[in-house]
Amino acid sequence: MSSLAEALRTSVTTLAELHAYLQERGIDPEAAGLATLAQPAVLPLRIPRYYLDLIDWHDPRDPLRRQVLPLPDEEVVLPDDLRDPIGDDVHSPVPGIVHRYPDRVLFLLTAACAVHCRFCFRREFIGKPARTLRKDQFEGALRYIAEHPQIWEVILSGGDPLVFPDTYLNTVLKRLRSIPHVRILRIHSRTPAIFPARLTIEFAEMARRYAPVYLVVHVNHPREVSPDFVQHVGLVVDHGIPVLSQTVLLRGVNDDVGTLAELFKRLVEARIKPYYLHQLDRAPGTNHFRVPIERGLQLMEGLRGHISGLCLPTYVLDIPGGHGKVPLGPRYVHSKDGRLYEVVNHHGERFIYREPISTTETD
Ligand code: SF4
Repeated sequence: MSSLAEALRTSVTTLAELHAYLQERGIDPEAAGLATLAQPAVLPLRIPRYYLDLIDWHDPRDPLRRQVLPLPDEEVVLPDDLRDPIGDDVHSPVPGIVHRYPDRVLFLLTAACAVHCRFCFRREFIGKPARTLRKDQFEGALRYIAEHPQIWEVILSGGDPLVFPDTYLNTVLKRLRSIPHVRILRIHSRTPAIFPARLTIEFAEMARRYAPVYLVVHVNHPREVSPDFVQHVGLVVDHGIPVLSQTVLLRGVNDDVGTLAELFKRLVEARIKPYYLHQLDRAPGTNHFRVPIERGLQLMEGLRGHISGLCLPTYVLDIPGGHGKVPLGPRYVHSKDGRLYEVVNHHGERFIYREPISTTETD
């Protein structure tokens, strides 16, 4: 596989290039349904060739294709869609920093990504060079972190921090590691799923130097857990870097129990702990990807008890407006009467659990 720079340089960024890509492979663009695509209005097209090669072009409903090709549905904007659905702006004290929770900050280094996901909630600024941090803004963000001793964890996000070369990431990690109260460094990235070769031994060795560094990869479908992905994530795990995953619940991509079960099991087999399953944020033009919460709860109910607890992420909702994340879960405790709890198992059977009398009560 080529380098990231090469993958970025050769990515498909226009519908004309997509036509040419298909024709190179002997696929008729009309038969592949390209006529149904829309010219992207807000979020430009960007798809690395590695990811295009994973798509089944004979299936117009292919779940990977759906994530990266713009449909006319993107033009549908609902009255209560939000330009900044999770309230990054209201919690941004200085450019590049989102300080929503007391002990951790998001450090948004760049607006660039190796792929442009059609469901992205930061779609308004992804790919806009003006939103990538300037040197003085970068220094200002580091100063903010250094001046707030309650910041225990820094999460590098964007955009996607793994679009930077290791030399730049090394500088970022080194500067953060020199701040004594910052104990945990976390990198959020979609790049490993759409161009696994980004995870090199050199990257793994660098991350290891600044441990504890956690890597959280964004993966939405079992076919993204390809042999290349497993191999390259394995390099990172072998260097002692814990790897977790986050998944966005997406209509037509992964909104059934079988797909989610296969995804989470494959991730665990690749030594990745599924961390979050996100309810889709309410960004304009993403309604066609929306799965109702009721359905999300049914899916979680369908998974719990049927696949190993190791494979289960927490299903979460970011409360619109920046009010934080809450776990969403089916109810397993149905009622309580004194020390008696009515609980329901994964077969839907109800049982009574009696709380033991505590030592304090018997004293
Ligand atoms: S990689 Fe992440 S930030 Fe970039 S477009 Fe996709 S979802 Fe958005």
